[in-house]
Amino acid sequence: MANIIDGKAVSAQVKEGIRQEVEALKAKGIEIGLAVVIVGDDPASQVYVKNKEKACEAVGFNSYKYALPAETTEEELLALVDKLNNDDKVDGILVQLPLPKHLDDKIIINNIRPDKDVDAFHPVNVGKIMIGDYSFLPCTPAGVMELIKSTGTDVAGKECVVIGRSNIVGKPQAMLLLHQNGTVTITHSKTKNLKEVCARADILVAAVGRAKMVTADYIKEGAVVIDVGMNRDENGKLCGDVDFEDCKDKAGFITPVPGGVGPMTIAMLMKNTLTAGKEHHGV
Ligand code: NDP
Repeated sequence: MANIIDGKAVSAQVKEGIRQEVEALKAKGIEIGLAVVIVGDDPASQVYVKNKEKACEAVGFNSYKYALPAETTEEELLALVDKLNNDDKVDGILVQLPLPKHLDDKIIINNIRPDKDVDAFHPVNVGKIMIGDYSFLPCTPAGVMELIKSTGTDVAGKECVVIGRSNIVGKPQAMLLLHQNGTVTITHSKTKNLKEVCARADILVAAVGRAKMVTADYIKEGAVVIDVGMNRDENGKLCGDVDFEDCKDKAGFITPVPGGVGPMTIAMLMKNTLTAGKEHHGV
């Protein structure tokens, strides 16, 4: 049986460290604020935003929620982003994605000030990740790196395989593994012999969006298996891209879904907001 990586515990540790830093900053009169903007009433987005507000409260940030109606125009949303860009109480701005169809995610994100872009989606921040000179790391891939670290695994020289090449997970994930000197392969829907490629991995990160696609035959004995996927199985139950039951006896370490990568994403968002706040206050 593999060691199960407890994302909730690792995330609690990260958040506790942040809480202590925030307390020390408050003692010096410094407060940190995160603005969360949600447009429309997508139920999953509502849950994510609520969880982000809760996390802000737990670490001691001020959170400012802007819930806008689904019919908000691009002009109105850009006006809000501009206002938040210029508000000194706001250190981080997060626009919850996906936006309603008539709004273009790219246009909105490109208008967030890069030093307040705590999701690290702005092209300036994406470019900085590429060259390894960054303030913010994209939250989900950064959370994955924390989970790998928690296993005591040194990434240097390891065969790392990432399944998925999205801009928010797969590509930055590969870059973070590369920065830690992993030998990285990025795979996707056109990859040939995916199973064989994955079975070479000492560290396998699945970010596909296909319920339980990764079975034991994709896994090398003793590998670290990180499951980013958040899917519904045939019974409507939340599950990952990895078939946990099938893989748990072969992997060395494995993340569950839920309770693995999910909690880390929010913890890393809090970390980025703290980084932004410290930078803005010159501490
Ligand atoms: P995308 O749909 O943007 O990307 C999926 C990637 O998987 C694509 O690169 C695609 O390849 C690849 N892919 C699809 N099918 C196959 C296949 N059969 N074999 C190999 N590769 C395949 O998804 P995201 O990156 O946004 O998200 C991935 C998963 O992670 C989802 O389940 C999502 O819900 C979850 N997620 C979880 C987060 C968390 O906090 N836990 C945060 C963000 C995402 P191609 O490029 O060729 O189409």
